[in-house]
Amino acid sequence: MSKRDYYDVLGVSKGAEAAEIKSAYRKLAIKYHPDKNPDDPQAEEQFKEAAEAYEVLSNPEKRRRYDQFGHAGNSAAGGYGGGGGMNMDDIFSQFGDIFGGGGGGNPFEGFFGGGGSRGGGRRVQRGSNLRVKIKLTLEEVALGVEKKIKVNKQVACQTCDGTGAKDKSSYHTCRTCNGSGSVRRVTNTILGQMQTTSTCPTCNGEGIEITAKCTTCKGEGLTRSDENITINIPAGVSEGMQLSMSGKGNAAPRGGIPGDLIILVEEIPHESLKRDGINVIYDLYINFADAALGTSVEIPTIDGKAKIKIEPGTQGGKILRLKGKGLPEVNSYHKGDQLVYVNVWTPKAVSKEERDVLEKLKESSNFKPQPGKNEKSFFERIKEYFE
Ligand SMILES: [Zn+2]
Ligand SMILES: [Zn+2]
Repeated sequence: MSKRDYYDVLGVSKGAEAAEIKSAYRKLAIKYHPDKNPDDPQAEEQFKEAAEAYEVLSNPEKRRRYDQFGHAGNSAAGGYGGGGGMNMDDIFSQFGDIFGGGGGGNPFEGFFGGGGSRGGGRRVQRGSNLRVKIKLTLEEVALGVEKKIKVNKQVACQTCDGTGAKDKSSYHTCRTCNGSGSVRRVTNTILGQMQTTSTCPTCNGEGIEITAKCTTCKGEGLTRSDENITINIPAGVSEGMQLSMSGKGNAAPRGGIPGDLIILVEEIPHESLKRDGINVIYDLYINFADAALGTSVEIPTIDGKAKIKIEPGTQGGKILRLKGKGLPEVNSYHKGDQLVYVNVWTPKAVSKEERDVLEKLKESSNFKPQPGKNEKSFFERIKEYFE
């Protein structure tokens, strides 16, 4: 179930450059290619694993998220996480980029001598990505949460089974390319025979020809419908973070690859706690008498109420730290703290009796500010807060 580190999979260092990553992947793709390892499920797994690692590390944005958040950065945990997000079509469609040229032709023909049994150059359509926003409370961020949402998305048309054709007799394998989606031309040059491959002009690379369109979807192969999706949000996510679930976006016509579902995280502000990275801040107000005499107060934390002690002689501006009462980091056991900022409340207006008492107290030498050597300066407290 647990995924290997993508850098380990490709056997490159964390700082590897794009060209190095590409070259490492090319070697693995050739080594584990299914045409070379028929009926070897282990090789197929390694082939898929390498493709997934390359998919992430070759994309600067995905790589940045992976470096920061690990596997959770590019996929919501659970759900499809274990099986890897890529199917064989995804992987083969990636090869144009890796092996260069070829206009989508099967790059392995050169390596393994023809026999592109796996769809070869047939153009696979890709569905578009779907974006949703998920609003989370601070408590949900702290523990992680499973969210069930309903999305309205493009799905394969049920009338025509996504083919876009009116019925079974209204589509057939393209006669120009025999369904391969590409046409080959052999030309004689001074260096010998050269073979070039290009997209079939008759079927536009799809491998089939439609003679009458489905009336439900007007030949698109797609209709809209609601789908319930369960999203596992890992603990510790934050505002603006994006999670993606591959294959959960809009469907593609004619059995193509569905797009991804991109989940944008939004935070619902907590009524009394503020978030600061992995720490949680609470502003506590106590009266002057409690500050002088000491007391114990109940304060909110992410997991319910907690009682804290205020020592006699507490100065305003003191910061109390509740270890481990903050938020977790994504994909880590490390947790932040809750910081309690002690404010001593000064009354804004006083009654005659109160004034008399205060006037009397003012005379007491004990009430004259006497910051000692051990007193932390305001600047030191602020610094401590940011540590
Ligand atoms: Zn249809
Ligand atoms: Zn064709």
